[in-house]
Amino acid sequence: MEKITGRATDLAKCYGASAVGIVTTEMLAGGPPSVDLAYVLPNAKSAISFAVPLNQDYIESWFSKQSHADHLHNNIQTNVIASGISLELANYLNQKGYPSIPLTANTAYRTDSKNGRFDEIPPISHRYLAVRSGVGFFGLSGNVLTQNDGAAIILGSVVTEAQLIATDPIPGEINYCDDCRLCKAACASGFIDGHEKVTMTMGGMDFSYSKKRHHSRCDYVCGGFAGLHNSGKWSTWSPARFNIPDKDEAFYPALVNAVGPYLKRARTALNVYNVLMPGDRVELTCGNCQLICHPDKKIRKKRYKLLTESGVIVENPDGSREAVSPEEAKKHLAAMDPKTRALYEEV
Ligand code: SF4
Ligand code: SF4
Repeated sequence: MEKITGRATDLAKCYGASAVGIVTTEMLAGGPPSVDLAYVLPNAKSAISFAVPLNQDYIESWFSKQSHADHLHNNIQTNVIASGISLELANYLNQKGYPSIPLTANTAYRTDSKNGRFDEIPPISHRYLAVRSGVGFFGLSGNVLTQNDGAAIILGSVVTEAQLIATDPIPGEINYCDDCRLCKAACASGFIDGHEKVTMTMGGMDFSYSKKRHHSRCDYVCGGFAGLHNSGKWSTWSPARFNIPDKDEAFYPALVNAVGPYLKRARTALNVYNVLMPGDRVELTCGNCQLICHPDKKIRKKRYKLLTESGVIVENPDGSREAVSPEEAKKHLAAMDPKTRALYEEV
């Protein structure tokens, strides 16, 4: 097993992973349902978890609203690499005689809960496997942070019948999260509680992060249905400025209300395919809680400043998007005919 563990780890690294860990079923015992490896492979004995880094060079231009496409393209490509590593790794292990299941990096949901895939429960949680196996550690945001790339990573996993040799979680003193709360401040949807924490136990070890509010908050804002922060001073990459409600229960009706305009607005050239979204495609307009979180606090602060001082996004008649001041944005919308304006805000 030492040899096969070493080769599986090396394969993931050779193909693009920056950190790799191994977790066994015993290490996940007592955890939430999404760490039940048997859900995807009845005789599973272990799983390989890994992180693929996003390109840090595109993050500043994302926050300063200079380039939407650079990070978006990189995000899609990195997801494809993570899913591809899973496929290659599972194929390798299967060929070596160990039945293994590759997992898609994102946008895969269980269908057997109350609301089916709309409950957004993954077959297996990459995040929980990653913290238990030492690929990274939880930040306040609930995102997995890594020592070198912060939260700017895409996670992947493979579940296998091979009894691979486990790796340990990263010791708490190495976790750089200092509760700066910039992830919460950069979230226009209010998804991250930021104060109350949730703790889960996996294999006798506790792992904590901030309580989160209903996931439809993130669907609404990150998906681009609305993007203007309640201060009115900054926005995500979405040109839509429908109300961002206070209460969880108001988000689903708000989302349903914003679907019509969402479908009628011009699409960006690049979209993420996601079966939960109208037309099966989603605009990626946020990700701020993830992208802001760098191990160096000075960089976190700089990114937050870029986000909050670069104005708001408006859409031009040709479908291009640009950042303007909040005042200019109001004039831009006021100059539209009511039908066009209703694509972006309540008229
Ligand atoms: S942004 Fe700050 S509080 Fe949030 S996870 Fe990162 S280090 Fe922790
Ligand atoms: S992706 Fe955006 S909307 Fe979703 S939780 Fe993170 S900051 Fe909030």
